[in-house]
Amino acid sequence: MSYHNKGKPQHKWLGQNLPQCLSGRLMCTGCQGNLQANLAGFECRACGQKYKIQDGVPVFWASSDEFKNMESEYYGREALAPSQSSVFRNYYHFTNYERKIKERSLSFLKPHSLILTLGGGDGRHGVSLCQMGHDVLETDLAPKAGLAAAGKFREAGGRHSWAVAAIDAEQIVFEAETFDAIYICAALHQMPGRYKVAEQVGRVLKKGGTLILAAEPNAWFYKILRPLAQFLGIRSKQLWGQSVGDEANRGVSYKDIILFCQRAGLKPVYIQPKFFLTGLLYQSTEAFYRLLHKNHRDRLGTRQWEVEMLTRMDFMIGLIPGIQRYPFYWTVAAKKI
Ligand SMILES: [Zn+2]
Repeated sequence: MSYHNKGKPQHKWLGQNLPQCLSGRLMCTGCQGNLQANLAGFECRACGQKYKIQDGVPVFWASSDEFKNMESEYYGREALAPSQSSVFRNYYHFTNYERKIKERSLSFLKPHSLILTLGGGDGRHGVSLCQMGHDVLETDLAPKAGLAAAGKFREAGGRHSWAVAAIDAEQIVFEAETFDAIYICAALHQMPGRYKVAEQVGRVLKKGGTLILAAEPNAWFYKILRPLAQFLGIRSKQLWGQSVGDEANRGVSYKDIILFCQRAGLKPVYIQPKFFLTGLLYQSTEAFYRLLHKNHRDRLGTRQWEVEMLTRMDFMIGLIPGIQRYPFYWTVAAKKI
C-alpha cells in the first residue's frame, strides 16, 4: 500500500475524478491569477508562483509563518501515526444523541454536494461524507495528512469523486463559488486567523451553499478547565502531545459563531449545544486517568446506557435559556445568503 513511486516523487494529484474537475478552478493565493498544471505541480500564469505536488498531494500554501509550519508538521505526524491523544479512549461511547445531532446538521446538505473539508486531518470525516454520496476535496494544512486521507479513500473504495490537498484555510486556492458545502470538524478553534477563514469560506461557497461546523469546543472550556488541569499538573506534554494550534486556541463561543457567520455572509440555520453532563463525565474520567498510575487505567470506564442517559439529560439542558450557551461543544449549520 505505498503510493510512492519507489523513491521517485509522485507528481500526479491523488484522487478520483475530482483532480481533473477542480484543476480548472484553481486561483493563485498571491495574485488571483489562474494556475496552470506543469510537470511538478501548478504555476501561476500571472506571477509565476509555484505550487508543488508532494507525494501526490498538491501543496497550495507557501508560508514562512513558523506557526503554520509547526502545525503542518504536527498534524502530518498525527495523521500518519496517531499518538495517544488522538485515539479515542475506551470510556467514549457514540450515542443516539450524537447521531441525531450529526444527522440533523448533515440534512442541510443537498444530495451529491461538492464538499471542501478544512483541517480534515487523517480524512475519516471526508471518507464518511463520500460514502453518503457526496464528492469530497479533503484538505488539511499538512501535506502528510492528505497522504493518510488518500489511503483511507482508496481503502473505502466507492464510485464518488474525491481528492486530497494541503490548503491554508486563510487563503483558499479556489475561484469564488466553487463548492456546495464546507465541512469543518474540530479545527476552526485552532485556526488563528478566524475571520480570514470566514471571508474565504464565504467566497468559495456557492450561493445557497452550506457550512457545517461539526464539533467545535466552547470557549469557556479553555478559560476554566485548561487552567485547572494545568494547576493540578495533569496536563502533561506526553499525554496530550498538543499541537501549537491547540496551545494557542481559545475555543468558540456562541457569539464567535454568530460573528463568524456574519463575516462569511452566512445565516446560521442550526446552532446545537452538545454535551453538558456528558462533557463533565468525560472530562472527570480523563482527569482520573491522568491522576492514577498507568496500570489502573483500564479499571475506569463508562457504560453505554450511562452515557445514553446523560445525553438525554444533556438534550433537555440544551433547551434551558442561559445555560444552553455553555455546552462543551457546538454543532452548527449555516447557509450562504
Ligand atoms: Zn499569482
